[in-house]
Amino acid sequence: MRIILLGAPGAGKGTVAKLLSQIDGSVHISTGDILRAAIKEGTELGMKAKAYMERGDLVPDELVMLMMEDRLRRPDTDKGFILDGFPRTIPQAEALEGLLKRLGKELDFVANLEVEREVIIDRLTTRRTCSNPDCQEIYNVKSNPPLPDGTCRKCGSPTVQREDETEEAIANRLATYQAKTAPLIDYYARKGLLKNYRSVSSAETVEAVKRDLTLRP
Ligand code: ADP
Ligand code: ZN
Repeated sequence: MRIILLGAPGAGKGTVAKLLSQIDGSVHISTGDILRAAIKEGTELGMKAKAYMERGDLVPDELVMLMMEDRLRRPDTDKGFILDGFPRTIPQAEALEGLLKRLGKELDFVANLEVEREVIIDRLTTRRTCSNPDCQEIYNVKSNPPLPDGTCRKCGSPTVQREDETEEAIANRLATYQAKTAPLIDYYARKGLLKNYRSVSSAETVEAVKRDLTLRP
């Protein structure tokens, strides 16, 4: 499959993307994960992106496009890809369109995950992430806690609250989403590529996306 997952921070894009990638081996590409790994490794990209991310601001489009062009050219994307957290601005969406044309790849559709604001805020403040960059498993202190000592159930590394999950940074991320990313809903609707999902659970959303994938022309 070749799809884009749209949705506010905390809408569940990461979880849905992981489940979808298990269906057919399409690669899950999360720009947030790539950027956080770059920061950990101290690469040039990471050093440029760090301050923006900690404030909950978007990383500049040019940097993100360089990184994504490189990522989408890798052969593992031949099986398909699930884009999680990208594109996040109209210029990124326009640049992606050109890039996919050059690569001779066409999107199936854009899945927009609609989740209420209260649910989102609750999810973001209770979220914990595995600190191991190769794992990055996501937990929730209420619904899906890490081990009692706070370590990851998958790899045993400590789980942490992300720098950008303080109340202030979360408010900024949601405002940034409204201003910069929400316009993509209209953008893709006008191209006839948008599908909306209002399911409560990630599993339900995955089933609905699967159905739409088999129904597509
Ligand atoms: P969430 O979707 O929960 O906000 P992500 O892990 O997708 O979290 O992104 C974390 C941060 O990484 C964003 O707040 C932003 O600073 C940066 N980022 C990720 N993807 C992009 C992108 N496509 N364009 C610009 N910045 C991005
Ligand atoms: Zn882990």
